[in-house]
Amino acid sequence: MSDRKRIYLCLAHMSENGMEQKYVKEAFDTNWVVPLGPNVNGFEADLEQFVGQDKKVVALSSGTAAVHLALIACGVKPGDEVIVQSFTFCASSHPITYLGAIPVFIDSEKDTWNMDPDLLEEAILDRKAKTGKYPKAIVPVALYGMPYNIKRIMEIGEKYGIPVIEDAAEGFGSRFNGQVLGTFGEYGILSFNGNKMITTSGGGALICPNKEAASTIMWYATQAREAYPYYQHEAIGYNYRMSNVCAGIGRGQMTVVEAHLRHHKHVQRMYEELLKDVDGITMMKAPSDNYDANYWLCTMRLDPEVRIKGQENAYKNVITGAVGGAAGVIHAVDSATTDCQPNDNVEALRLFLDAAQIEARPLWKPMHKQPVYKNNPAYVNGVSESMFKVGMCLPAGPYVSDEDVHYIVECIKDSIQ
Ligand SMILES: *Cc1c(COP(=O)(O)O)cnc(C)c1O
Repeated sequence: MSDRKRIYLCLAHMSENGMEQKYVKEAFDTNWVVPLGPNVNGFEADLEQFVGQDKKVVALSSGTAAVHLALIACGVKPGDEVIVQSFTFCASSHPITYLGAIPVFIDSEKDTWNMDPDLLEEAILDRKAKTGKYPKAIVPVALYGMPYNIKRIMEIGEKYGIPVIEDAAEGFGSRFNGQVLGTFGEYGILSFNGNKMITTSGGGALICPNKEAASTIMWYATQAREAYPYYQHEAIGYNYRMSNVCAGIGRGQMTVVEAHLRHHKHVQRMYEELLKDVDGITMMKAPSDNYDANYWLCTMRLDPEVRIKGQENAYKNVITGAVGGAAGVIHAVDSATTDCQPNDNVEALRLFLDAAQIEARPLWKPMHKQPVYKNNPAYVNGVSESMFKVGMCLPAGPYVSDEDVHYIVECIKDSIQ
């Protein structure tokens, strides 16, 4: 078993035709090794064509930077409140705090695991009653690529005059009623980190409503400079533009984006089919045809009654590295447990698969359960917390072959006591 190649959750995959290297080489050959240039312009044009709706797209250094600049463009200031989906990766909410503003967390609906529109409206009215002001923006998130109920979220945003910033970082190429996510709201976030639908090694983009908005975003992303022969600053800017080298990778990746989308959906269909008769395991899937998910990651639920081999030893050992092998520095912890964590059988399944060279990962822990946000307002119905306890992400993406999916499913069946 141990000499098997490891199956990762979602790995960057370069095109077979080597287009990424061609564009990167061009950047070197023409000496455009800077955060602007022909690849940046070309990548933005490719993205604009892909998302449609006459949107303008600005390529940035990360998806997190895109969230930050979208909030600035929506006028978020210190002390303001911003509504954000709780069931998400921290990059949806952290930039709100960079601005001295306050994230207000909204729990999820069962069908999509995304922002519950009923709770959203309740929260807007309650914040107005409590603070005298409406929140400055609404940030729904396409968790694992599943579309949110954008129809109702847009209706509520319009009713109260609050702009919607779509966090489609995980939902690149997902559609609602045939329209690409990120093009419904005022702004749309894309991420091209190494583990996302397509990659630029690291990078992101902001989908903007028009040329004027895009030019303001570009201005903020390049240190907000005034037109003088010397550096003159009348606003605080950021160094957030995408490098021309990274954009070369992005242009190459755009030649395989449709193939990647097809493959993610194919892997999802295989899991659904192969796991449909396994008691206690349910694949998450789109509630109807209006929700065209990219299935960036495939996710399942494990009933609490199912006993997994080795379950009695779950959470006995303090983890020394980051789950998922994230880059960077992770704080060492003293305790193997927290007051809100996946069930023992889910952790046991993760360890069982890990030993079989399969990377699986718990669902993202809801932000309203994170210690760093313990004092933030939260409108909660229990859905995200209960899903976090029973959910698991399974490998997806271009590197996961049909044979891999069969092997993963056999290992899951094997893990059940
Ligand atoms: C990855 C991600 C981001 C941010 O993207 P980076 O490019 O990694 O900064 C934002 N929101 C969500 C939901 C994400 O998963």
